[in-house]
Parts: sequence; structure tokens; C-alpha cells
Amino acid sequence: MTLQNGLPWILRARQEGWAVGAFNANTLEQAQAIVLAAQAENAPAILQVSHRALTYIGSGSEIQGLKYIAAIGKVAAESVAVPIALHLDHGTESEVLQAIALGFSSVMFDGDDLSYDENVSITKRLCETARSNGVCMEAELGEVPKPDGRAYDEAAIALTQPDEAVQFVEATGIDTFAVALGSVHGLKTKQISLDLDRLKTIRERVPVPLVLHGSSGVSDKDIEQGIAIGLCKVNVATQLSQAFTKAVREVLNRDDGVVDPRKYLDPGRDAQMEAVRERIRFFGASGKAR
Ligand SMILES: [Zn+2]
Repeated sequence: MTLQNGLPWILRARQEGWAVGAFNANTLEQAQAIVLAAQAENAPAILQVSHRALTYIGSGSEIQGLKYIAAIGKVAAESVAVPIALHLDHGTESEVLQAIALGFSSVMFDGDDLSYDENVSITKRLCETARSNGVCMEAELGEVPKPDGRAYDEAAIALTQPDEAVQFVEATGIDTFAVALGSVHGLKTKQISLDLDRLKTIRERVPVPLVLHGSSGVSDKDIEQGIAIGLCKVNVATQLSQAFTKAVREVLNRDDGVVDPRKYLDPGRDAQMEAVRERIRFFGASGKAR
């Protein structure tokens, strides 16, 4: 199928008590693994790329990275019969505008380092551009840290404040809202518990669908309860790269004579596909394509 705006499925997921999986790709093989997994599970899915993935794919140039991904995402979506959205994860203002112009069907603006007022005004402006192009717009308030292997202070994480969240969503007009409930990007073990009471309050007061970032580090029990309360887009990245890399490492450890990248990237792709399928089933999204 052609790339789709994922908002209708996210809204349906919320109503029916499941979540749409949003899966990060850093390479062609990872993008393929995601759409093939969605196809195998007959599920809608979001293929997403982060700011750093763009820089990597574009060999240092975000714009070049966006162009590559726009083309890869389009071809990947058209290679399967289930609906796929192509999402820019944590974009800057100029990346969001470029992504919309290049045909991404979903974008997230990350105004993390801005003042509240500045964040609101840029998000609102981007939201109008997204809406007029039929693109789904996500933004975040509060902090899901990106420690990148460094130590972080769990107690100092700025969780989403319900009052501010209500104001922010109303003032910006965003379609989906990423909440900070204690999760952290890039964790390699499921060690985090979410602030589910905070989630309940936000869910009662904020009308738009809620998104969880950093799910690889969150206990499955809390993800499950979070979905039951109303999280309906769940981002997964680290867990997938772990599966991919483990399979590659096994091949290389087994045979130090391997030269052809296809010999280890293919098992990596298969392993990531299985990992995505497992998450799709866990989120209750299996069989939900239509
Ligand atoms: Zn994130």
C-alpha cells in the first residue's frame, strides 16, 4: 500500500484497548524487517527514524538522510499489503518541514531544549503545516532522557505535568502526545516502572492519543497496564537492535571467514523481524490491519 497517516488506527487502538507499534530503523534491513513483520502479523505498523538515524543514513547530512528514508519507506510500504506509516521521530523544526515535503506520513517535533512558550509556538505552526498535508503530528512534554550509555539521574527526570499537558495539547493542536512517565531511551534491560497514576490522570484530562517512548527499558507488565489505561502508540528501538545485532554477532563469532555482508545482515533482518512480530502480538495489534 502507499504510506498511510496512522492516526485513524491509533484512535481505533485506543478505543479497542491495544497499541500501534512504532518501530525504529537505522538501516535498510531494519526497515524491511519492520514491514515484513507487520505483513506477517496482518497488523498496521509505524516505521520510524530518529534524528540520529537520519544523520547516519545521510552520511552526516540530515537532509540526505531524509531523502533516503522517504524513498525506502515508500518502497517498503508498497511492498506489503498492510498499512504502514512513515514517521520522523524527534525531529527538529527544519527536519519536520523537510519530512512533510518529502512524503513522510507522520512527524514528531522535539522541542525539548526550548522554553515552554517557544515550544508551543513552533509546535503549533508545524501542526498547521502537517494538518494541511494530511500528516499526523506528535509532540512531547516532559523528559524521556536520552543518556546514550551515560549515567542518568532517575529522580531528576521531568515527568509530564497534567495541567501543563492539557494546556499544551490545546494550544498546539497536536494529533498525538508523547508522555514522560519515567521511561528512558536506549536502555538494554527492562528495569523501569511507569508512573501509571500520572498516566491515568493525563488520560482523563488530555483528549488526544498518548504515546510511550523508551519502551525497551520498561517492564512488560507496566507496558501492558499502560496500554489498558490508554497508551496507544508504543515506540520500540533498542530491543530490536539488540535482536538484530545478536544474530549478526552469532554468525561472525561462528565463522571468522565470512566476508559477504549478506551472510550476516540477512540473519540480522530475520531476527529483527521476529522481535517486531513479538512486540506486535504483545501490543495486541496482530490481525488489526484492515
Ligand atoms: Zn523517543
